[in-house]
Amino acid sequence: MPKRIHPTTPRYCLFCKKIIKRPLRPKSKFYISWKQYQKLLFCNYLCNGKWRSLNKTGKNDTNWKSSLSKCIDCHKLLNFRYNRPVRCFSCYKKFKTGKNNPNWKNGKRFDKSGYILILKPDHMLDSIG
Ligand SMILES: [Zn+2]
Ligand SMILES: [Zn+2]
Repeated sequence: MPKRIHPTTPRYCLFCKKIIKRPLRPKSKFYISWKQYQKLLFCNYLCNGKWRSLNKTGKNDTNWKSSLSKCIDCHKLLNFRYNRPVRCFSCYKKFKTGKNNPNWKNGKRFDKSGYILILKPDHMLDSIG
């Protein structure tokens, strides 16, 4: 009986460059089909994970997310990119009301060395009273 030769080429792991061994089907003694084997890119899930972490592309990876703007106050990730420092809506609201607050100036003063001192709210009350 002649041996059946499968029209196949060995696959090499994208990460470690070793030949990928044809794995067994789950819960079975049989190997996966050569068709399935041709779709394999990695020798195991570890190489898959390592390769993915090195080749971050596309919208779903963390690189894309980290390039988004973050709120400068609460560090919440914002949906858009900005070239300037930004706040999220709720922090912006707080920031605005703070600036328009007549007590705002009392919370800020210059010390002798020229540094701006921003007093904590509880100290602010002291300076007003
Ligand atoms: Zn590998
Ligand atoms: Zn915020």
